[in-house]
Amino acid sequence: MAEEGKGIGGRSLELEVVTPERVVLSTEVESLMLPGALGYLGVLPGHAPLVTQLSPGVVFYRYHGEEKRLAVSGGLAEITGQKVLLLADTAEKSEEIDVERARRAKERAERRLKERPPGVDIARAEAALKRAVARLKAAGQPT
Ligand code: ATP
Repeated sequence: MAEEGKGIGGRSLELEVVTPERVVLSTEVESLMLPGALGYLGVLPGHAPLVTQLSPGVVFYRYHGEEKRLAVSGGLAEITGQKVLLLADTAEKSEEIDVERARRAKERAERRLKERPPGVDIARAEAALKRAVARLKAAGQPT
C-alpha cells in the first residue's frame, strides 16, 4: 500500500528498539512518547535531532492509529529527523511481559527497601522497583 507507513504531514517516522540481546522492534510509527532523562518526550516526524538518556519507563507509540506500549529499563535514545533509535538495556513489548514475574520483582524490591536488611544495595533495589513498575504499566496492569 502506497500510503502505509506515512506519518503526520506525509512524513514517516521509524522506531527501532535494540538491546544487547536482540532487535525488539523496527517499525514505522506515527508518533511516540519516550521516558527521557528530563521527563517524557513526545516525538513526531521531523523532530529536532537529539540524544538523551532513557529512564526506566514506558514508550508509547502510535501504529496504524493504535496506541502500543513498550517497557524500557534505561539506555540511550537518538532522534534524527525520520528515525528514533533506542539503545535500551532491556526492552519488552507489552505482550511479551510476564506480569507475574514483574509483580514478584516489584514486591521483592519493595520488601528490600522497607526492611533494609544488612548489606542490601538500596540503589539497586530502587532501580529494580522502577523496572518492575515500568513493566507493569506497559502491560496495562495496576501498580
Ligand atoms: P527479575 O528480577 O524478574 O529478573 P529484572 O528487572 O532484574 O527482573 P532485568 O535484569 O531487567 O530483570 O532483565 C533481564 C532479562 O529478562 C531481560 O532480557 C528482560 O527483557 C527480561 N525480563 C525481565 N523481567 C521481565 C518480565 N517481567 N517479562 C518479560 N521479560 C522480562
